[in-house]
Amino acid sequence: MNIFTKAVHVGDRRKPGPHIPVTAPITTASSYVYETMQQLDDVFAAPDSGYCYARYDNPTNSGLEELVTALENGHGTLACSSGMAALNAAIQTALLDRPKRIVAANALYGATISLLDKLLDPFGVPTTYVDICDLGAVERAIAETKPGCVLLETISNPLLRVGAIDRIAEMTRGAGAALVVDNTFATPLLVRPLELGAHMVVHSATKYLAGHGDVLGGLITSDQEHYAVLRQVSRIYGPVLGPFESYLTMRGVKTFALRMERQCANACRVASWLATNPKVGKVNFTADSAHPDAATIARLFPKGLYGAMISFELRDAGRAEVFAFMDRLKLIVRATSLGDVHSMMLYPAMASHRDLPPKQRERLGIRDSLVRLSVGIEAAEDIIEDLDRAL
Ligand SMILES: *Cc1c(COP(=O)(O)O)cnc(C)c1O
Repeated sequence: MNIFTKAVHVGDRRKPGPHIPVTAPITTASSYVYETMQQLDDVFAAPDSGYCYARYDNPTNSGLEELVTALENGHGTLACSSGMAALNAAIQTALLDRPKRIVAANALYGATISLLDKLLDPFGVPTTYVDICDLGAVERAIAETKPGCVLLETISNPLLRVGAIDRIAEMTRGAGAALVVDNTFATPLLVRPLELGAHMVVHSATKYLAGHGDVLGGLITSDQEHYAVLRQVSRIYGPVLGPFESYLTMRGVKTFALRMERQCANACRVASWLATNPKVGKVNFTADSAHPDAATIARLFPKGLYGAMISFELRDAGRAEVFAFMDRLKLIVRATSLGDVHSMMLYPAMASHRDLPPKQRERLGIRDSLVRLSVGIEAAEDIIEDLDRAL
């Protein structure tokens, strides 16, 4: 079934019965009763066979989980309370029976770096950072550190680099480690990492999948090998999404492919315009034929869909000039987050990468003149007009 069709149908109308709600209802109960104690005992013995407690499972979440499993072509999905909760649960699942060491991309979402350095490292799980676009370096890092988990983002934040997930999956599998891919920026419309050999794929559902700026959520879709452990990890510490947020996310997902298609097309137009503007320095965009990973992008992404994130430098600008530019924006929303229906701009040095020491930011190429634009579904000419006025 085509992804556009899946997005609209999967997960709804799950229970055959005399009347079937057209869309998955919000179920708020924290626990469940059965006609007999024997039935409840059976559910406790095999938690996937029925509902008994909301930390384990919830019917609204099950609808969303079935839907996202279909989109990512996985074995099963866990809906989490945030993207960060999902990442943490995925890493714990990956490492439970493996060496407690991680090899991670050196370009990651800011809070992911904090998770690795400030939470996992102090608990004895060190991370080795590597340029994932340098396959030789990835191979060496895996051989030298023998990690239990390799972690990367399909499209890196905010410089939009793209690693060869399939090749890295081969190396990771060869070393007995688990590959966890954060697919937030790409969405399953562009890339489905499990099809390329990853073991678990993570989303901040807050972004494109929910898409309307009104949900905080995360998702982990795993292969068969890791699914039971993932559910077990979740049953123990409960990083689960609430049923209201599940409902909103599911409602958002129905239009995600449509929105993403439009956002990708808008981003191409905006990026082309930015590249010709004398007040703009370097433009990072995945459709650029001069992109350092153009060959990998051509191989892994569908034709014409390159993502809807752009980052660019303002020529000769420091923090004060960037602030003044962003203050002049009238349409584009100056806010953290991305992937919403409305265009949004963020200043990485102040927001997503604020917690990194300036030297480390500089080393990663995140200069004080760099801004990140999440292109929305508005008319492209209105987005361009807003940028033009503010520049
Ligand atoms: C936002 C984001 C996260 C964290 O997700 P939350 O829902 O904010 O917890 C992780 N990875 C990427 C790439 C993100 O953009």
